[in-house]
Amino acid sequence: MTTLKGACHCGAVTFEADTPPEPAKRCNCSLCRRRGAVMSPPFLADALRILSGESDLVLYQFNTRTAKHFFCRHCGIYTFHQTRSNPAEWRVNLGCVEGLDAYALSSAIADGASSSVISGA
Ligand SMILES: [Zn+2]
Repeated sequence: MTTLKGACHCGAVTFEADTPPEPAKRCNCSLCRRRGAVMSPPFLADALRILSGESDLVLYQFNTRTAKHFFCRHCGIYTFHQTRSNPAEWRVNLGCVEGLDAYALSSAIADGASSSVISGA
């Protein structure tokens, strides 16, 4: 079992997730192409533990409003999200994980743009 330890930029939000970092993913949907994060593989909700800053998280939703994207209200950094394709699953922002070079991982690009239900969103 691999446990990733992560934090937002200002350190208000800290978390742990029981998941290996690979296979990492990026995504070309309208949100992900703007935030540019390298994401962990999906894991079930109980593998994510928010250690601090739960009240500092802001929820952002768009399009089908299925996915739940969380970011820190102070520094604006995306920390993790509940996925649209399977709401039982979550991914974390590997750029938040300590001791890990997210850009050194090979990360395929998911075609989130084509799987949006409402086109153009
Ligand atoms: Zn922060």
